[in-house]
Amino acid sequence: MKNIKSAQVKKIDNVGRIQIPKYMKNNLKIKNGDYVEIYENGNEIIIKKHNASCIFCENLDSLTAFRDNFICHECMDKLKGI
Ligand SMILES: [Zn+2]
Repeated sequence: MKNIKSAQVKKIDNVGRIQIPKYMKNNLKIKNGDYVEIYENGNEIIIKKHNASCIFCENLDSLTAFRDNFICHECMDKLKGI
């Protein structure tokens, strides 16, 4: 593991959650309520900031969250017309 600045031991609570240290969230500009990406990599779990984009056209603007995905207003309007 390269570029590791520090390690902290965190307990997984009884419903499977862990708390990400505030300074780590601040460093990565992650706010409570934001989405993150979680990857399994061998015996590691990697959590990355999710830069949201539309699942249909990859537009980054005017997004609405729907069932853990994002849809831009333009694609939503097109879907309404189907
Ligand atoms: Zn779109």
